[in-house]
Amino acid sequence: IPNDFEKMLSAHELLTKFYHHLLINTKEGQEALEYLFTRGFTKELIEKFEIGWSLPHWDFATRFLQKRGFSAQLMEKAGLSIRSEKDEGYFDRFRGRIMFPLHDSKGKVVAFSARSLNNEQPKYLNSPETPLFNKSELLYNFHRARPLVRKDQQFILLEGFADVITADQAGVHNAIATMGTSLTDRHVQAIKRVTDQVIICYDGDSAGIQASFRAATLLSEQGLKLRIAALPDKLDPDDYIKLNGAEKFKNEIIGASLTFMAFKMLYYRQNKNLQDEGDKLQYIEEILVEISKLRNAVERDHYLRLLADEFSLSLEALKFEQKQIYFAEK
Ligand code: ATP
Ligand code: MN
Ligand code: MN
Ligand code: MN
Repeated sequence: IPNDFEKMLSAHELLTKFYHHLLINTKEGQEALEYLFTRGFTKELIEKFEIGWSLPHWDFATRFLQKRGFSAQLMEKAGLSIRSEKDEGYFDRFRGRIMFPLHDSKGKVVAFSARSLNNEQPKYLNSPETPLFNKSELLYNFHRARPLVRKDQQFILLEGFADVITADQAGVHNAIATMGTSLTDRHVQAIKRVTDQVIICYDGDSAGIQASFRAATLLSEQGLKLRIAALPDKLDPDDYIKLNGAEKFKNEIIGASLTFMAFKMLYYRQNKNLQDEGDKLQYIEEILVEISKLRNAVERDHYLRLLADEFSLSLEALKFEQKQIYFAEK
């Protein structure tokens, strides 16, 4: 006899197939399917990622599951149904949305993320935290990327799972994403069990740049080797690939990824006018603080020289200042 945990898993498996069928084979799914085609998702991609459509009805999925022997109480616990305050009935959490199944590291569907079609808010609705789904742990596409990463040696960490799907179509199969949350220790632990190398390629808007900085800080604190691929013009990987193609993404974005320090140099430059004396001194100070955190003397020397060259400063003065900062912070 299956226990509750196993039942919740089979409910997700059943619904994944059912939602997918609704999207692919029925008139009800047609508008959503066209939306996905317009976005450039191919039929093969939709099949590979088991994308689906939930009907815009009150309790279609709940009843679908009840007919197959799943109690509504348990489906509420699984995050699929919601108990109505008024009449104690149950209704579907996901209604009239594009359904993206979320797999755990073993490849079992444990939750959904559901995108609205016509800009209704929220844009994405995720399953709540359940005994199956912990958003501070799950990484989208992890179960598919992991075997490849054992060979390639690196994960590419993207901000949105739509980016992961588009990257996959572009031939980048080692991409993963968090489910709209910042990267956590638990995500990093999962990554670390497979590799110690990550390329971060978050959205090119200011939120994405801030998030890259935080994710990179966490990864480097945990001893991983990381690089950061920066996207221009506030684009995300999905936009970029659609605009410029797969080859450019691979060569000019992923292939041109920066070290964390090089990224910091860009980061601290934002919103500064380096022609301005005050801004310039502030920038130099910020970079010296970052250089002071480097453990490797050769690296420190390298970046001090870059700074000296760029601002026509004496290397000695910079070295002296950097040591002052180092000892002040001790
Ligand atoms: P799309 O291209 O479909 O608009 P996106 O991947 O560019 O989506 P972003 O707005 O960049 O989406 O958000 C990145 C990630 O953050 C999404 O993949 C999703 O997991 C999460 N997210 C975005 N909006 C919400 C929301 N309203 N509620 C929960 N999570 C969200
Ligand atoms: Mn974003
Ligand atoms: Mn985005
Ligand atoms: Mn996008």
